[in-house]
Amino acid sequence: MEHQLQIYNTLSRKKEHFKPINPGMVGMYVCGPTVYSDVHLGNCRTFISFDLIYRYLLHLGYKVRYVRNITDAGHLEGDRDEGDDKFAKKAKLEQLEPMEIVQRYTLGFHDVMREFNTLPPSIEPTATGHICEQIEMAKEIIAKGYAYEVNGTVYFDVEKYNKEFPYGQLTNRKLEELLEGTRELGGQDEKKGRLDFALWIKAKPEHIMRWPSPWGWGFPGWHIECSAMSSKYLGDTFDIHGGGMDLQATHHTNEIAQSQACNHKAPVNYWMHTNMLTVNGTRMSKSAGNGFLPGELFTGNHPLLEKGYSPMAVRFFMMQTHYRSTLDFSNEALQASEKGYARLMNAIKLLDNLKTSSTSTSNIQELKKKCYEAMNDDFNAPILVANLFEGARIINSVNDGKENISAEDLQTLKETMHNFVFDVLGLKNESSNTSKDKALQGVMDIILDIRKEAKAKKDFATSDKLRDDLAKNNITIKDTKDGVTWSIQE
Ligand code: AMP
Ligand code: ZN
Repeated sequence: MEHQLQIYNTLSRKKEHFKPINPGMVGMYVCGPTVYSDVHLGNCRTFISFDLIYRYLLHLGYKVRYVRNITDAGHLEGDRDEGDDKFAKKAKLEQLEPMEIVQRYTLGFHDVMREFNTLPPSIEPTATGHICEQIEMAKEIIAKGYAYEVNGTVYFDVEKYNKEFPYGQLTNRKLEELLEGTRELGGQDEKKGRLDFALWIKAKPEHIMRWPSPWGWGFPGWHIECSAMSSKYLGDTFDIHGGGMDLQATHHTNEIAQSQACNHKAPVNYWMHTNMLTVNGTRMSKSAGNGFLPGELFTGNHPLLEKGYSPMAVRFFMMQTHYRSTLDFSNEALQASEKGYARLMNAIKLLDNLKTSSTSTSNIQELKKKCYEAMNDDFNAPILVANLFEGARIINSVNDGKENISAEDLQTLKETMHNFVFDVLGLKNESSNTSKDKALQGVMDIILDIRKEAKAKKDFATSDKLRDDLAKNNITIKDTKDGVTWSIQE
């Protein structure tokens, strides 16, 4: 396949020409969500970034096997193999079965991914569905001498592994530096080394999610699920492995160690990491309490939001920053994205009715080339967007009679705009409404006009009643400095 795609590889810390193991085919694994609560917008950024990468690989003509797992077991509260299992804890709190928690948040995750127009992965394996594979892998690692059992728990021996393989290679750290950042082992610790981590954990009597194993009843550690499932579906060495940057130092470092110890092969050729979504400079996270849920973002129902933003405006907002840069949330940036998205959609609508001439005033072939160059440069979506805005400018100029375009160039411009805006950036036209949507918009315009008149007459009883009655019907209205907005609470 002829292309110049360069991918930044976290492992080599440089951009490399992309060459898959099997010509024309790509194996890609992305660490999926831990489904014990709703995904926040930060999680969505990572999955939307990989959707862009997936879409571009498909656009280049690759057959991609995209595996994104669901973590539904073995994720403890503490990051040192201690604390409660997050699923069991939430289940107790809500008086549900752990698998009811898993089902609820998996469905919610899929809904959100659909709203953002992400393509579903080819395979979405769950940790609980692959307990046997994880046990087999832990057994193999013990047999190869890199893991040991203590009282029903199996630990990976990091110091022994590091004698043969560079354990800290993904973050470019030596074992001594990593050891400095960890606390001394206490008398009650079972493990031999401070960096050792659990492959399998003995279940305490009260632990609900448990499975039988050669070491007694227990449950898997978090890292082993990704090693076991990626090798099952993509082979011992595959092309791309991704996730958020926060997974590099522990989760992915441990994945490499487990797979390398088990198979004596490096598991992944290109490690890709997306940067974080921040709010006022602080990483958005479940624990920091600054995580907007996508639903809150769409309705504007959150103190930090001036109004609601549509899924495509939010997706476009994310596309305007490179996936390896941090992206700070702000109302201003989202409002600018709303306008930019509308500008692109309006220009695309004009494409079908443009008049052609014998020659073109702008270089359309060059524009198309620049779009490919941007994406080939480590999926540089912001540069692509700048080129698409140039495309929109040309469309508007031709439409206004200020520029000319030939029939052949118009065809190229149409293809370029459609391919990159819809197939690669994954945007869709939100205003291509059904007749029901249009009727609802008309009725809402009438109601909001009545409310505006009532307010002008200081008839607050009527204006409040309209707002409250709409709320009872799951329609939220919000007064903003630019007027009134409304949204449906799903
Ligand atoms: P989790 O459900 O916490 O395991 O996270 C799922 C994915 O979201 C992982 O790849 C994380 O690295 C990623 N992630 C978590 N917080 C953020 C954030 N603020 N911005 C971007 N990605 C994030
Ligand atoms: Zn993972």
